[in-house]
Amino acid sequence: MLGRLQDRVAVVTGAARGIGAATAKRLAADGAKVAVLDLRKEACQDTVNAISAAGGHALAVGCDVRDAQQVEAAMQQVVARWGRLDILVNNAGIIRDNLLFRMSEDDWDMVMNVHLKGAFLCSRAAQRYMVEQRYGKIVNTSSTSALGNRGQANYATAKAGLQGFTRTLAIELGPFNINVNAVAPGFIVTDMTRAAAERVGMSFEEFERAAIERIPLRRAGKPEDVANVVAFLVSDEASYVSGQVIYINGARPQG
Ligand code: NAP
Repeated sequence: MLGRLQDRVAVVTGAARGIGAATAKRLAADGAKVAVLDLRKEACQDTVNAISAAGGHALAVGCDVRDAQQVEAAMQQVVARWGRLDILVNNAGIIRDNLLFRMSEDDWDMVMNVHLKGAFLCSRAAQRYMVEQRYGKIVNTSSTSALGNRGQANYATAKAGLQGFTRTLAIELGPFNINVNAVAPGFIVTDMTRAAAERVGMSFEEFERAAIERIPLRRAGKPEDVANVVAFLVSDEASYVSGQVIYINGARPQG
């Protein structure tokens, strides 16, 4: 049986590990050719190897999403290799958590640049091909932190910004048959949540247990929980879904 993303070409940013790696593998399992993009090309190799071993097609692309020239070159490289660009998942992200009074300008700028400027540059570069094709799917990675989270003034602001960015792109690009949506994960077990536990001085087990107590579905999320929703949003089964933010948080109330 052909996968539902057969012959589609996807770029997943921040795909060396965590949610991005799970998403790249899932899109490849659905038949897409996947550019695994991350800061360092060598770091992408594990994801690329896993996709190839499963019989899929993948390409490692080193690119800093904050840099317009690198982003343009990365998208060009993908189109030169596979002839089109159908799917962009803006997933690359970092945290620089601190309470406001301790937050440096650098903590603020870094987070804005990776999440917001990165999504802007990647989307602007990718839409050119998508508009020409009259076909495209963009998924931005927001977070439940967009609703407010102690110690994350920078990150919460960037993730809320991505929701406005998503709705605006859905309006501007809709006439070209391009769907733009966002996923907003809650507590997903990755290196990022491990770093968050470290910052508040808790063991990861303690941190996870405390989170699970507040999650009605009584478990932490896995990268695959997010990847599955992204795979739906970029498929033609979701072709009338655009401008939406899907929370993937086990029904955890925020705040
Ligand atoms: P992760 O494990 O830390 O992976 C993030 C990836 O992004 C890393 O491979 C990182 O590369 C890459 N990256 C960072 N800056 C980059 C840049 N300038 N250009 C290209 N790639 C860059 O994080 P994750 O938990 O999978 O998170 C993925 C996305 O989901 C992020 O946007 C995050 O904010 C969001 N999210 C996560 C959670 C959660 O609970 N984990 C919840 C809500 C939202 P390096 O390793 O080289 O730094």
